[in-house]
Amino acid sequence: MWSEFPAQKQVAELLYRSLKHNRLSHAYLFSGPKGAGKKKVAKHFAKAIFCLKQNGDSCGICKNCRLIEERNHFEVHWIEPERNIIRIKQVEDLQKKFSYRAAESSHKVYIMDEADKMNQEATNRMLKFLEEPPQGVVAILLTSRIQDILPTILSRCQIITFAAPSPEIIAKELEQAGVKPGLARAAAQIANDVEEARRLCETESFAQLRSLVIQLSEDILERGTYALVTIHDKFLKQEKATDKIDLFLDLFLLWFRDLLFFSLGKESQITNKDQMEPIQKQALRMSQRRLVDGMGTILVTKNRLTHYANLQLSLEDMVLRLQEG
Ligand SMILES: [Zn+2]
Repeated sequence: MWSEFPAQKQVAELLYRSLKHNRLSHAYLFSGPKGAGKKKVAKHFAKAIFCLKQNGDSCGICKNCRLIEERNHFEVHWIEPERNIIRIKQVEDLQKKFSYRAAESSHKVYIMDEADKMNQEATNRMLKFLEEPPQGVVAILLTSRIQDILPTILSRCQIITFAAPSPEIIAKELEQAGVKPGLARAAAQIANDVEEARRLCETESFAQLRSLVIQLSEDILERGTYALVTIHDKFLKQEKATDKIDLFLDLFLLWFRDLLFFSLGKESQITNKDQMEPIQKQALRMSQRRLVDGMGTILVTKNRLTHYANLQLSLEDMVLRLQEG
């Protein structure tokens, strides 16, 4: 049902109404960041067009809904980049397939994912197809790079804009996919979209880096210069430490932010909610001033490292500054 898309409520409502009142466009362009749910909504839209039970929505269980879910419905055609390009052959195949008019059905739908990946030949062919759409054909083009789509194509589509998902929505989606809530929230804060957040959670080191951040913060408070040993043994000695430094510092910053939220009594805003015990323990030992300065120190380190500063020296310097507090 359309209610499955709370993050894209406006889009869902618009598509539902156009179907319900029989005002379908020939062509739609779904534009929005990766992870905003364009593909899922496109599939649901196709189901809603063909659903045998619902008017304007999809039941999810009738024959048509199921065939579309399995990508086996004859009147719904998918086009996706092959080795990162959509070629003219794919558009020609579509035209060929849709030139036969099925008697029992009044619609044909095609969904083109990453439409910005069409090469020039394919674009030209697509343009012709969009200019003279066969009756009943509904085009749904998807893109996260609308700036790469030719204006001549855009002008023939109804453009539907998908909002970027909020960290809360991203976290919820990750949790539904089985990621632990604490990690899901941390990944959602750091990543820009669901896909990136999912990739983060899938990297083995993500959970491990978060644990290390918590330990390092603890060592800085409790064990003085031993924190330098921690950073050497547990981080710098890791394989590919350089590749992980950005993520490590992002997590460290998130941790300090949580300590500050706790200190300010804004517990509802804490990201690492599954770590309330160390958060409380550490936050009570640091002044708000020290936490704010600490966040500044981590940001400066991050900035330095993007300018190719020495990794070891920068991290040692950061640890010492955080200790001085
Ligand atoms: Zn159905």
